[in-house]
Amino acid sequence: MLACLVRKRMKFSGNLVQTWKLGGVGASARGRRRMSSGAEAVVAKERADCVVIGAGVLGLAVARELSRRGREVLVLDAAASFGAATSSRNSEVVHAGIYYPPNSLKAKFCVRGRELLYRYCSEHGIPHRKMGKLIVATGASEIPKLDLLMHLGTQNGVAGLRMLEGFEAMRMEPRLRCVKALLSPESGILDTHSLMLSLVGEAETGKTTFSYNTTVLGGRVEGNQIHLHVAETRSLESWNGGESLSQMQQLELIPNLVVNSAGLAAQALTKRFHGINHRVIPPSHYARGCYFMLSGSRGPPFDHLVYPIPEEGGLGVHFTVDLTGQVKFGPDVEWIDGVDDISSFLNRFDYVVNPKRAEKFYPEIRKYYPELKDESLEPGYSGIRPKLSGPKQPPADFVIQGGESHGVHGLVNLFGIESPGFTSSLAIAEHIATRFLK
Ligand SMILES: Cc1cc2nc3c(=O)[nH]c(=O)nc-3n(C[C@H](O)[C@H](O)[C@H](O)COP(=O)(O)OP(=O)(O)OC[C@H]3O[C@@H](n4cnc5c(N)ncnc54)[C@H](O)[C@@H]3O)c2cc1C
Repeated sequence: MLACLVRKRMKFSGNLVQTWKLGGVGASARGRRRMSSGAEAVVAKERADCVVIGAGVLGLAVARELSRRGREVLVLDAAASFGAATSSRNSEVVHAGIYYPPNSLKAKFCVRGRELLYRYCSEHGIPHRKMGKLIVATGASEIPKLDLLMHLGTQNGVAGLRMLEGFEAMRMEPRLRCVKALLSPESGILDTHSLMLSLVGEAETGKTTFSYNTTVLGGRVEGNQIHLHVAETRSLESWNGGESLSQMQQLELIPNLVVNSAGLAAQALTKRFHGINHRVIPPSHYARGCYFMLSGSRGPPFDHLVYPIPEEGGLGVHFTVDLTGQVKFGPDVEWIDGVDDISSFLNRFDYVVNPKRAEKFYPEIRKYYPELKDESLEPGYSGIRPKLSGPKQPPADFVIQGGESHGVHGLVNLFGIESPGFTSSLAIAEHIATRFLK
């Protein structure tokens, strides 16, 4: 009933809360709820089957998987369209599964996700290229780290890994400079936007409805079931931090299953779920990564992706190319703090690439690409990693939390889905459907 009405309404409004305010949704109950501040908020209540919070690649993959299994899904996103946050701001690399500790979720989902992703791309005509990757040691001191990566990749079941002497790698890539390289034939690139568009289409072919411009403000647990408080994003845009969020006009959704895939906002949102065990919510850290584009070159300098040895917080300033042939270098690592809840809900991050950061890029890139010309880098774009570990801390694994950890049946939280999150998305969706659908 709800999905049907929302779908009908979406043709001219695209926003679930607006639909309710105009009387379009068959609200099962309407009323006023007294808030702790003493103020009253107008609240309508609706039941739903599955609600996915966030239409990034994770939310889209989960929605598709749930609807393939016959479930009715409502996807809510604060933005005006899908993929507005991190899913449009990454390297677009299909990772092989090398860097992660054996048996970690990152290793498991990356390897499985890569297989599913290549298969999906082939079957659905999504542009992609398994171009292979060289991870390079540019000095003797880096060779043990390369050996460790070879060991990890092999343990993780990545096929075809081969250690190359510097001269072998440089014969394959004449513009490269290195003393040793690890060749990963399974790595590649894809058109992330086409993939997301295809996932939206597949989800909609099933029983999925999308409501954009719709922000989940928080929720509460009643009888071991989560109730979500949902508002129009528009009503938050002018929010100045004064009036309590809970006083805004809201729709209260009561789903059987909620998947919180709000990316950078996942922890902030979970902290606004009253009645769940907040002690299990991991800390949030944010690390911006900037990209610079290569200008004035006749074509990509390399046929393979080229990555240096990983640095703290990231995989190092690497060479990649998109499917149109545009060369980019990045991302670097810049820790940011002071992110408030509304900024994370509304994706109000500073994504501007400061041209001065190029000064640090030139020497990093020239370690493996010495011919890089002066003035050839132009500011590109940036993305922000949703990290669970901060500076100087060891890297953290993905966290997928169900009722066994936070105590609420039917709530699944996805935390820290940084790289290789895109590669892992179809595998994580498969896992969620298998583990949490009753
Ligand atoms: C610089 C960088 C490079 C990367 N490179 C790669 C790579 O090459 N390969 C790879 O596999 N992975 C890569 N990743 C990781 C990958 O991009 C992410 O893991 C993936 O995009 C995360 O998707 P998501 O759906 O979890 O989050 P997002 O794409 O951030 O989506 C979250 C959605 O939730 C919505 N939202 C937030 N709060 C609310 C709310 N309160 N109510 C409603 N909606 C809300 C947002 O609007 C957003 O659309 C990279 C990441 C970064 C930052």
